Amino acid sequence: SSWFSKVIEGPPIEVFALNKAYAEDTFPNKVSLGVGAYRTDEGKPWVLPVVRETEKILAENESLNKEYLPVLGLESFTKAATKMLLGEESPAIIEDRAFGVQSLSGTGALRVGSEFLAKVVGLKVFYYSKPTWENHRLIFLNAGFEEAREYRYWDPKNRNLDINGFLEDLRNAPENAVIILHPCAHNPTGCDPTPDQWKQIAEVIRERRLFPFFDSAYQGFASGDLVKDAWAVRYFVEQGFEIFCSQSFAKNFGLYNERAGNLTIVMNDVMEIPKVKSQITLVVRGMYSNPPNHGSSIVSYVLSNPKLFEQWQGHIRTMSSRIIEMRKQLRQHLEDIGTPGDWSHITSQIGMFSYTGLNECQSEHMIKQHHVYMLKSGRISMCGLTPSNVEYVAQAIKETVT
Ligand code: PLP
Repeated sequence: SSWFSKVIEGPPIEVFALNKAYAEDTFPNKVSLGVGAYRTDEGKPWVLPVVRETEKILAENESLNKEYLPVLGLESFTKAATKMLLGEESPAIIEDRAFGVQSLSGTGALRVGSEFLAKVVGLKVFYYSKPTWENHRLIFLNAGFEEAREYRYWDPKNRNLDINGFLEDLRNAPENAVIILHPCAHNPTGCDPTPDQWKQIAEVIRERRLFPFFDSAYQGFASGDLVKDAWAVRYFVEQGFEIFCSQSFAKNFGLYNERAGNLTIVMNDVMEIPKVKSQITLVVRGMYSNPPNHGSSIVSYVLSNPKLFEQWQGHIRTMSSRIIEMRKQLRQHLEDIGTPGDWSHITSQIGMFSYTGLNECQSEHMIKQHHVYMLKSGRISMCGLTPSNVEYVAQAIKETVT
């Protein structure tokens, strides 16, 4: 007998199961479109040159040590991250109403932020887009939220944003509900609201007294432009909203396993900040005590050094343009070989993922018949496409949908 004999097996996590199946597949032309990580034209992971360079500089700096960081993290990092998100000219920065909490990447920022909102502020209901990144629900429920709800987002018929459904669901939300919003490069649909639509969303959030929690996992990675990708967050702040925003440096810095993240908090009243900080300190202290240093010190160093910052912006342009180029090539091949249907959504979507419109049965067929690994929802990672496999993938899609 064991203490653990009553434990029942949990459901598998789809992406990890998919990656395992891909690794075990011996077919020579197999393609992995599940991974949420950047790949080069050669299909290889990419450590950004500016990261390598910074690591060397940091390794040789003998005044750096391995002492604990403060509970809320490295201040040079949280300040730089907050500034990168909100912009130097942000009213929240000028008025000192914004601060950051270092976190275990984007996931950790969501978790710390949601635990604070649930346990300290006492909020109970949260909304996420239908569909969303599959981890939002688990994070918020584990953090103590009582009720998970969805707002409509994707219109499968038009392969576009269902803005009317989205607004209607927000209008029907109870006061004090938290609304998780993707500021750019929506995962998994690759489909974002336009600035005008964001304005409508903001209006309803204000009217209904909802709390906006942005999840920024792709700033700079989506369009190659840090300012453009932060537009929605900056708009809300200019409009005087209090917000939370989780920030991940996994994608835009290629620091996936270093867990470099930040929770940016914008508040109305400067006087309330010390109280909030003290409570978040307790949340973090009881969860993991203090954050890791390596990734955050790299980000902090690059963001505060104009030459390296410039170099890094070149890297995010390289990554985003490769993805945009693969979108063009995939659509072009699909159209050239006469694949039935309209494929314009492939190029109008943005960011790491594309919702192809393939249904569950077709997506499974892609895996079984063609060894092209993708999620059941029809989501593909654009990063897994390369000039050498894109034609094969287009052929596979054509055979599948015909
Ligand atoms: N939020 C969204 C929408 C994401 O797509 C991801 C990563 O895939 C994350 C948050 C968090 O990732 P990480 O914890 O690796 O920063």
